[in-house]
Amino acid sequence: MTFANVILQWFKKNGRDLPWRGTRDPYRIWLSEVILQQTRIVQGRDYWLRFVERWPTAHDLALASEDEVLRMWQGLGYYSRARNLHHAAQQIDQMGHFPDTLEGIRSLKGVGDYTAAAIASMAFDIDVAVVDGNVYRVLARHYGIDTPINTTQGKRLFTELAQSLLPQGMAAAFNQGMMDFGAMMCTPRSPQCSECPLAETCDALHTRRVDDLPVKLKTTQVKERAMQYVYIRCKGQTAIHRRPSGDIWQGLYEPLMIENRPLPSFDGQLTLLRQGVKHVLTHRILLADFWLLETEVKPDLPSDYFWISETDLDRYAVPRLVEHLLDCLAKYTEKTKYK
Ligand code: SF4
Repeated sequence: MTFANVILQWFKKNGRDLPWRGTRDPYRIWLSEVILQQTRIVQGRDYWLRFVERWPTAHDLALASEDEVLRMWQGLGYYSRARNLHHAAQQIDQMGHFPDTLEGIRSLKGVGDYTAAAIASMAFDIDVAVVDGNVYRVLARHYGIDTPINTTQGKRLFTELAQSLLPQGMAAAFNQGMMDFGAMMCTPRSPQCSECPLAETCDALHTRRVDDLPVKLKTTQVKERAMQYVYIRCKGQTAIHRRPSGDIWQGLYEPLMIENRPLPSFDGQLTLLRQGVKHVLTHRILLADFWLLETEVKPDLPSDYFWISETDLDRYAVPRLVEHLLDCLAKYTEKTKYK
């Protein structure tokens, strides 16, 4: 049996039953792909259901405000995905329909080769292979390829190989089969080789290189940033600002944040809620201190900060680190309420 036939047969029996699998609607498929880019399926599924309920079409999403979309996205991280999604919905709305060619889909903001191939094959039956982390792993192991997957040469090699294996007219099932096979059988750690229908022809298994493949070059350096958050409580109000472009969490809101300099002196009582909270992002480790300033006098703040009622805070999308600060604050407020 050919490689593709093994995958197709396996997929028929074992493929995951996911809510977006039953649709050919490119908008819904696109949404699932964007949500799942850095998110586990269990968590992503709930977000997907909420998104399609609130905005059933790209047109509906295009009409939403960016703040609404970010608020809905809150908790998923990597917020540029949400901003791109919103922007692309507006592009689709202007086009009058979802683009139905690979190039057209690729022209949407934030849509790379992988997402374009996934939408094109699953919504429009275009014969294009999807290459995601699962596919790299299955191919690298089965064919015993040690070219690093995060190099131009590696990307080209694996894309060409996946494309050459793709059975004509079966792109949707083959691509989903490859991804599920990588996620369920040929997993990064402890793959199910003893149950694997590809075991007989698997190069990595026969050469004892399963744990060594695929190869990935270490490239990025992780930077550390120290941040001090000061939540100001002044007569039932607090101050926040919207994070500017050119840095993490663009468009999200946060309380007073001080970085690379000591805390200024404030009127009122300053309480340290938590110290050295570690928050890991892709290329950064953030170390944050959480402070509460209780004061009767509004301190001078940079001009982009504005005051809101504390009870309105949940209308603003905040990064997960700030959610953590708000949890600490709620616990502290509860503890000191009756003192
Ligand atoms: S035999 Fe093991 S390593 Fe090879 S494809 Fe199957 S699960 Fe992956």
